[in-house]
Amino acid sequence: MPQTDADTLLQEVSAYLKPKDVAQIESALAFSRAAHEGQLRQSGEPYISHPIAVARILTPLHLDAQAITAALLHDVAEDTSISIDEIAEKFGAPVAELVDGLSKLDKLKFETLQDAQAENFRKMLMAMARDVRVILIKLADRLHNMRTLNSVSKAKSRRIAHETMDIYAPIANRLGLNTLYQELEDLSFKYLHPNRYAVLSKALKVARGNRREVVSKILESIRQRLADNHILAEVRGREKHLYGIYQKMQAKSLAFAQVLDIYGFRILVEDVPSCYVALGVLHGLYKPFPGKFKDYIAIPKANGYQSLHTAVFGPFGTPIEVQIRTHEMNKLAESGVASHWLYKSSEAQINELHQKTHQWLQSLLESLAQSGDSVEFLEHLKVDLFPDEVYVFSPKGKIYALPRGATAVDFAYSVHTDIGNRCVAAKVNAELVPLRSELRNGDRVEIVTAPLAHPNPAWLSYVVTSKARGEIRHALKTMHLDESAKLGERLLGQALNSLGFKLQDIPEQSWDRVLKESSAKSRQEIFADIGLGRRLNMVIARQLAKLNEAESARTEASNSGIITLLGTEGMAVQYAKCCRPIPGDPIIGVIRSGQGLIVHTHDCPSLRKGRNGSEEWIDVAWDRNIHKLFEVSIKLIVANQRGVLAKVAASIADAESNIENVHFANEGEYTELFFTLQVNNRLHLASVMRGLRRIPEVIRITRVKNIPA
Ligand code: MN
Repeated sequence: MPQTDADTLLQEVSAYLKPKDVAQIESALAFSRAAHEGQLRQSGEPYISHPIAVARILTPLHLDAQAITAALLHDVAEDTSISIDEIAEKFGAPVAELVDGLSKLDKLKFETLQDAQAENFRKMLMAMARDVRVILIKLADRLHNMRTLNSVSKAKSRRIAHETMDIYAPIANRLGLNTLYQELEDLSFKYLHPNRYAVLSKALKVARGNRREVVSKILESIRQRLADNHILAEVRGREKHLYGIYQKMQAKSLAFAQVLDIYGFRILVEDVPSCYVALGVLHGLYKPFPGKFKDYIAIPKANGYQSLHTAVFGPFGTPIEVQIRTHEMNKLAESGVASHWLYKSSEAQINELHQKTHQWLQSLLESLAQSGDSVEFLEHLKVDLFPDEVYVFSPKGKIYALPRGATAVDFAYSVHTDIGNRCVAAKVNAELVPLRSELRNGDRVEIVTAPLAHPNPAWLSYVVTSKARGEIRHALKTMHLDESAKLGERLLGQALNSLGFKLQDIPEQSWDRVLKESSAKSRQEIFADIGLGRRLNMVIARQLAKLNEAESARTEASNSGIITLLGTEGMAVQYAKCCRPIPGDPIIGVIRSGQGLIVHTHDCPSLRKGRNGSEEWIDVAWDRNIHKLFEVSIKLIVANQRGVLAKVAASIADAESNIENVHFANEGEYTELFFTLQVNNRLHLASVMRGLRRIPEVIRITRVKNIPA
């Protein structure tokens, strides 16, 4: 019977995994085969050929049993009726997590083709993957899809090739997966520029034939010379990948022959000192190019790559590039992050795998930090290691990078200040969510705006971006000034009335004089100052009316100005938190410098003790038509019985009041409940309390007016 791909896979994993692990992979193989039964790939092959091929791309990297199992199952959750829970049950939670991570990545679609967006998309992928193995499996999945791309439509193959070139090949490169990276690039190139690819690959084939003789001659000389000097070494010829050649031609405007004119060799030795000895021997054999030597062993490249690079004049003056490194360094250069898995498969090691990856990457980072050119690599790794950013989509598919913890409001402001200032609701993945909702990687966020909406001060408690914070503060301040000016105008009007004048009758000249005297820029500023308590309404009124102190004292006494509260004053009028006045309560206003008008109840305890010189007391009254919800605090003493809190809450709801806050203190057989409720006025509060008294367990109800700050 001929050997199948499945047999080959099992053979490959048996070479480095334990029998127990191989058995799991065998059962995953059967499971996947059954799940995909009857499904065909675009090429007409049975679907199972795809997961097997993906797993086989990963076996040379010696990935662990969990990763190979997940590779075999990676399309099961997407394309069949099998759930992640079933996978967890059968193959364990870690495998299920890998498969789940892969299906999440599958849902991401890269839509715009701008460079900056591609970078963010790569970061989003890395951040979402969390586990490096997810990325490795995803890359293998993409590689096999690229290898079989000729069976899909032309338009689709171009789109996939584009995405591979922009997103997946750079990720493979960054992770140091050299072989994978070069194949991904070459295949993308083939589908993006079929003609150039055909011409170049044909030329390359011819050139390789012609070069064979020169290459083998150079190889022989180097091998001989190293052996003469007792250096144990492996010497290989080195070929650039096709897309690499193409890029070099483009970047340096070189002809194909010029690029190919350079011969590449690699010398692999046992240890670091041998690298330098081999270098000396090579420079003795062929003259080095001045200024071309690079020591990436002493100073590794950003992705951890280590090697000596030199260029020499070969026979007949042919330029030759040579890389000298240890076998160890070569392993890292070829398989990057994955090299960490090679030859590690014991049970304990697999359990610690994730942790070890982190340690490995971290130690790499440490060594890089000293070498200096680590910034770029650090930045790309940190999305994996220190996930402090989230990447979300706008409805049009544009990607936004936000700090972790960012909310829908942060997103709204990062799109545009106006969107932030006008936002009223948010949809995440087409579902309505509160504006404070924290965004997660890959979320599609849509902001609902209303033309007359304003920022809410409460947003400041949860936004995390400085842009949102700054814009909200700015908008609130402007709003505050507007509202204060409106209140100030009314306060001034009342004061003028009490002096027997009308605001609208004050002549222009009087205003000009008062503005000059008070060095204010505009009436609006004077109004706002009065509203905020920075100027006294009575003083300005007298200045406008040109009355002197003695005269005004007389009229003032006979005519007191009362401010009626409409409930629409916004932030210019604050209801004191200590006594929480509600319509119907006798009230008094206090103007405090910089804060505006604060309304207390007549009997507020904090008023009695707190009087100081910087305050002005003002008569205020509720407007008859005031309609607004006010917060009020009540205290209940209830007998401890099961369900009493629910009864109380239901009764409050029945009376059409909202509970803003509740806390309680347990005192033996009784409990004290403190509620903050929203009511319209005293009548409303009375009906709430009436309802509560009917509950047998409620022993006492009081309204609380001395709430500690
Ligand atoms: Mn797949």
